[in-house]
Parts: sequence; C-alpha cells; structure tokens
Amino acid sequence: MSDRTADDPETYDAVVVGAGFSGLYMLHRLLRSGYRVRVLEAGSGVGGTWHHNRYPGARCDIESMDYSYSFDEELQQEWQWSERYAAQPELLRYLNHVADRHDLRPHIDLDTRVVSAGFDDAADGWTVRTDTGRALRARWCLMATGCLSVAQVPAIAGLDRFTGQWLHTGAWPKEGVSFEGKRVGVIGTGSSGTQLIPIVAEQAEHLHVFQRTANFTMPAQNRPMTEAESAVWKSEYPQRRAHARTSGFGHNQPQNDRRHADMTPAERLAELESRWAAGGLHMMRAFADVMTDAEANEATAEFLRGKIREVVHDPEVAELLSPRGLPFGTKRLCSGTGYYETFNRPDVTLVDVRSAPVQEITATGLRTTTAEYELDVIVFATGFDAMTGSLSRIDVRGEGGKTLAEAWAAGPRTYLGLGVSGFPNLFLLTGPGSPSVFSNMVNSAEQHVEWVADLLDHAHHERIGRIEATADAEAAWTTHLADVAGRTLYSRARNSWFHGANVPGKPQVFMPYLGGVGEYRRRADEIARQDYAGFQLTSR
Ligand code: NAP
Repeated sequence: MSDRTADDPETYDAVVVGAGFSGLYMLHRLLRSGYRVRVLEAGSGVGGTWHHNRYPGARCDIESMDYSYSFDEELQQEWQWSERYAAQPELLRYLNHVADRHDLRPHIDLDTRVVSAGFDDAADGWTVRTDTGRALRARWCLMATGCLSVAQVPAIAGLDRFTGQWLHTGAWPKEGVSFEGKRVGVIGTGSSGTQLIPIVAEQAEHLHVFQRTANFTMPAQNRPMTEAESAVWKSEYPQRRAHARTSGFGHNQPQNDRRHADMTPAERLAELESRWAAGGLHMMRAFADVMTDAEANEATAEFLRGKIREVVHDPEVAELLSPRGLPFGTKRLCSGTGYYETFNRPDVTLVDVRSAPVQEITATGLRTTTAEYELDVIVFATGFDAMTGSLSRIDVRGEGGKTLAEAWAAGPRTYLGLGVSGFPNLFLLTGPGSPSVFSNMVNSAEQHVEWVADLLDHAHHERIGRIEATADAEAAWTTHLADVAGRTLYSRARNSWFHGANVPGKPQVFMPYLGGVGEYRRRADEIARQDYAGFQLTSR
C-alpha cells in the first residue's frame, strides 16, 4: 500500500530507528501492510538491549513465556525456552530467529547510526541522516530507540590514565572478558551489577564491589523450563496473553489485591514468604498498596532486610547491604542469583562509597576519599541515560526547525508517550510517558507497534498526510502522568533513573506512566475509537 514513488531509492513510507523488540515488530507490521520501510540500527546486529548487554549473568527478570512476542502464534507454540528467565544469549538467538523467520534482514541497515531527523513542512515528511552519510526521506519516522540504550559512564577524574581494562555492562565486547586471576572492581549495584557480581566473584582473584546505594535484590529462583511447564503455558496462551494485556505490568505474575492493613500479621508474613519463594519481581505485588502506603512498603522492606541478615554472615556487611531511607521498589527491584551469598566469600569486599566516595581513577586502580584499591579491571555497572538518552543524541527537528531538545528542556512531554506536539508524523515506541519500563517491555512494544500501525493504515485509507499530537492533549497527558506518579511512593524517592537523577544536568521528571498497562491500553484504544482524539489529522 505504498503511498510514495519508488523512483528515489532512499525514499520510503517509513523509517524505523532501532532493531530491538519494538523495531523488528514495527518493521514486520509495516511490511505486512505493504509499506516501503527501512530500519536503521547503530549496532552490528539486531536485538537492541540484548545485542549490547552481553555481560556475564545478563538475563531478563520477566519470565520468558511472558517476555516474548505474542503476535506470531506458531512462533510462540514452537519456541522452547530453556529457562524460566532467559539469559542474554538465548534472547539474542530468539530475536535473530524472528528476523530470519519473517525475512526482516533485507530491510535493515546495521552499523548505521542516525544522527539527525528533520521534518519538512512542505513535504509532510522526515529526512533522516546517518553517520554513513545517507539521507533517507519518509512520511513517517518511528523511533524504536529503546529506553535503556545509552550507557552512562560517570565522569570520574583519571579514567583516561587507567592502564588496566575498563568496561560498561551496557556495551559489553562480543568476544567476552576473562576475569581469571584478575583484581576486579565493580562500580554499581543496580540490576546489572547484582547479576554480574556473583559470576565475576567466581572468576576473579579478588573482587571489590563499590556500592553507593544499597538496593533490594530478590533471589530470581531461576530454573530450567520443563517441557511440562512450557506445555501448560502454551495451552493457556490465549488466556495468559489476554490477562497480561489488561494487567498492571503486562505479565502473569499474581497480584495480591488485599491491602496490608486488611490482613492479619500471620497472613502478611505468609504472603511475603511466598513472594520470596516465588522470587524475581513477585515482591512488587505483595500487597495492593505496597507502592502507595508507607506502612505496607516499610513492612516489605523490613522483611527483606531480615532476609539479608539471614544470608550474610557479617552483621556489618549485612547492614551495609540493607537499603535504608528510600521506599522499597522506588529504585528498580533487582533480581539475581546468589547475590547476597557472594558477600560471604573471603575474596569479595564490599566498599561503601557513600561514606567515602570515589575520588579518582589512578593508573593502577581507584582511590576513594579514604583508601586506594589496586585493580586490573574496572566494570561500570552504572546504568543508562534512560528513556530520553537515545533520542537526545539525535538532532531531531520538528515544525519550524524546533529541536526536541528545546521542546524537552524541562523534561520529556508527550501525548501517550507516542506523539510530541510540534513533531508531526514522528512516533515514539515505548517512549517516556508510556508504561514501558514499568511493564513487560515486549507486551508494551507490541501494543505500541499495533496502535501505530493501525493509525498509519487509517491514515493511508483516509488519505491523511500529517498526524500531530495537539499541545492541549500533550499538556493534559503530562499532567495526568505527574498526578498518577504523585499518588505513589515513587514521588518520595527522586534519586533514581526513573526521575533522570543519575545523569548530571538532566531535568528531574518522573518519566514512565504508572497507571498500568491495562489502563493505558484502554485509554489508547478509546482515543483511537474517537478518531484519534488529541491528534490533529490533516488530509494530503
Ligand atoms: P542502575 O539501576 O541505574 O544502577 C546503576 C548503579 O550504579 C547504581 O547502584 C548507582 O548508584 C551506581 N552508580 C552510578 N554512578 C556511580 C558513581 N559515580 N559512583 C558509585 N556508584 C555509581 O543501572 P543498571 O543496573 O544497569 O540497571 C538499569 C535498568 O536496566 C534496571 O533498572 C532495569 O530496568 C534494567 N535492567 C534489567 C535487567 C533484568 O531484566 N534483569 C538487568 C539489567 C538492567 P546510585 O543508586 O547511588 O546512583
């Protein structure tokens, strides 16, 4: 159903930036509708997050049966996940399989970074320029650039002097890294660090873990996926996928609908113990009000501190590993295997860099305000310029040459996390303002892709050439987003990447939508039914 001429080989109906979960499915949907599409991907392979995050221990903390595409019934019946939580190599194999299965590769340019995207008012279209010197024109520009794709290395003085090897978890070398016999320092104890640390500890001569903020790490309770378990999931996929789509977080973990105050002490303890045994992110749903009621939240936090004390032999180390002063879950809950146990090893040292911050990297290691550490390898598990980082690195210019950086100077503003006023025909997939990082990303990616694909099909049939979020709709959504977040405990813990606090100078705004996947989908579908209320649709 192409609405463009094919005369110019660099003219397309749509350009998609990124070939991760969102970009691959977006490409598939648009090809199926007959569009001319080009996907531009900076990485040397498809897979997005799972292409870049190859650090030892990297695995998803949403169960594989949920964290997978639902759009291809045969695929979801055929594919056999080997573990409850798939590790990075298996996820990457899966995404490569999808690319081959749907013959997507001929439409993807790898090793091609988009440097700018400019809207042409007269043509109602975008010109997308790459670091390889190409200029692609398309009516629709679809940003599938990911929420956690720009590695954040802290500006610590002296890194250029370091004579050892340094790495960031989010940009891990394909050939891997050996830690055998090495003195290793890991900076950062978020989701990446807590997965990596137990594995590095097994290999390194000595591991120093530099912790600034303790975070809660649940035992993943990972295990091999049995055929019987997989068969049950597959037979129940219609109900389970439907449930995920209307749930809070886009997956099938059970939610306790009872409030903490309405349960007896014995019931609360039984609930917490069963969530600990279930592992992973189950604890986030222990009580209906765990993220809105301070008492329910602190009861959960104290239960987990008790678990840390049970596991870690040295009481001082256990206390240092116990999060204090920020509500449970307001920094992303981590899920790992053997994390707390690792600190019982004689060859692992926990260093508190809150009381004695890292001052500089030296030629041979790292110096805090109180001590010096000799290191052969430094691993930065220091996170990402999240949600806006990948977009802010592209020079995006909308109507009248206005830049996205200007439009978002005080933090991202979107309508539904999909459209931006002043930037017609540009759509963000799982962008800021949508549930994205507060959900099973694959579920949210599918919902965005399908919603945008339906909108573009509608535009084609109705001969609409320009679609733009109105300023009013964007303002109302931005207010709604802040209102929803303001009703939760997240508003009390601003020191997280959810707020942009981990990147110096970044505006501090709570970026994802906390209203839940089901509620978000209901609103987005309702808007579509109302002829895309809040978007201005202009005929060609
Ligand atoms: P992160 O959650 O942002 O954690 C970064 C860590 O580095 C924090 O402990 C932070 O301490 C520390 N840090 C940063 N700069 C530092 C400095 N200058 N000195 C000392 N410490 C410093 O990053 P992440 O672990 O890569 O995870 C990011 C997100 O990716 C997760 O929240 C999750 O959504 C996703 N993820 C998911 C999985 C999974 O599915 N299992 C795995 C990995 C990542 P402060 O807290 O004090 O800032």
